[in-house]
Formats: sequence, C-alpha cells, structure tokens
Amino acid sequence: MQIHWIALALGLVAAAANVCGGLVVVRWRARPEYLKYFVALGAGFMLAASLLEMLPESHKRIGSQAGLWLLVGYLLMHFFEHTLSAHFHFGEEIHTTEVAHWHRGQVILVGLMAHSFVDGMSIATGFLVSPWLGWVIFGAVFLHKMPEGFAISSVMLASGRRAQYALTAAGLLGAATLAGVLVMMPLHAEVPYTLPISAGVTLYVAASDLIPEVNSEPGIRMALVVFVGVVFMLSLKKLFS
Ligand SMILES: [Zn+2]
Ligand SMILES: [Zn+2]
Repeated sequence: MQIHWIALALGLVAAAANVCGGLVVVRWRARPEYLKYFVALGAGFMLAASLLEMLPESHKRIGSQAGLWLLVGYLLMHFFEHTLSAHFHFGEEIHTTEVAHWHRGQVILVGLMAHSFVDGMSIATGFLVSPWLGWVIFGAVFLHKMPEGFAISSVMLASGRRAQYALTAAGLLGAATLAGVLVMMPLHAEVPYTLPISAGVTLYVAASDLIPEVNSEPGIRMALVVFVGVVFMLSLKKLFS
C-alpha cells in the first residue's frame, strides 16, 4: 500500500506547483525567464517519457491497440483545450481581446481541469505499473505544472477577474490533479487503457502545448533545451531503471 501514499504525496507536490505558477502571475504579472526553461525542459522530457516509456509499456499489455488508445488520449486533450475554447495557449496571456469575454475564462478553466485530472490519473497509473514508471510520469507532470498554473491565472487576469480568483483557478487545477490520483488508485484493472491514454495526453501537452511556446521564443536557446529534456529522461533511465 506504500505505493499509494507515494503517488498521493507526489500528486500533492504537483498540485502545489500549479498554485506556485498562479502565485507568480498574481505577484509579478509577467512571465519570469525560468518558467520558459520549465516549458522547454518539460517538452523534451515528456516526449521521451511518452514515446520511450509509456507507449512501449502499453504495447506489452494490449499490443497494437496501444496506438489507438494513445490517439484517444491525444484527441481528448485536443477537444478539452482547443475545441471547447477557441483560444488557449500555455504562455502568458497577452491577447486580452481573445479572452476578454467572462465566459471564455470559465471554459478554459474547465478544459484545463480535465487535463489536470488526467495528469493525476497518469501519476497513479504509472505507480500501478512500477515505481520507475510512476516517477517518470511524475517528472513529466511536474515539469509542466508551474507553466500550467501560470497559464490559467494569466487567462483569468486577462479576462478581467481579480487576483484572488486567478489564484483560486490555479488551486482548482491542483485539486483536479489530486482527484485524478485518488480516482485512479483502485482502478488496477483499467491500467492497460489508462496508460496509453496518458501517453497520448503527455504527447499532446509536449508537442501541441509546450513546443509551440518554445518555438515562439526568439533565438535557439529554448529550442536546444528541449534536447536537454530528452537527454535528462534518458540519463535517468540509465541511472535508475
Ligand atoms: Zn493568447
Ligand atoms: Zn498538466
């Protein structure tokens, strides 16, 4: 049962990172340099985790069906983050006209809560497979949690809400993450499907949420940090698995 407590504790750490991201916006009203590194490092780490760890592990369980469930996970995120709401990205929200409508902030919050819920499910799914996979998925989630909290609070401020509300929104993402861990814990039998779905969600966040943010930065420094993220994941594998 120890593994359940570890997953829960790491869910709490991830949730705290959401709130930290929100605090950064509310206090400083601008995106600090180090958050960009989290985005780039997270993108590389998540790409490697999804394709080199989560997908092969799913393949062992359900064979060629793994690709289908990965696609389901990918499209699920595409629906919640970019179909429900017409404008959302992981950066600092400066396009105030796009999010000015009060209702739109609410829709983006719902989409990101669904995403965060899956983040939590992914951590628990990982630990139900092995401690190694649990830690890898936690790493993938943790690295994008601060940018995620930052993004939602920044959307809330851009849509005219007060700081208190912006911070609460980041807290709600944290709560959704914890809920995901708790809901997944007893679902051992569903792991063969939640694992490839998590792989698809991880791939989406890396390739479709984070990489576009990396590419919007001038220069090649951020682009290079993506490779560092991949190498980071691979070295952890050498050391610990
Ligand atoms: Zn925008
Ligand atoms: Zn997330």
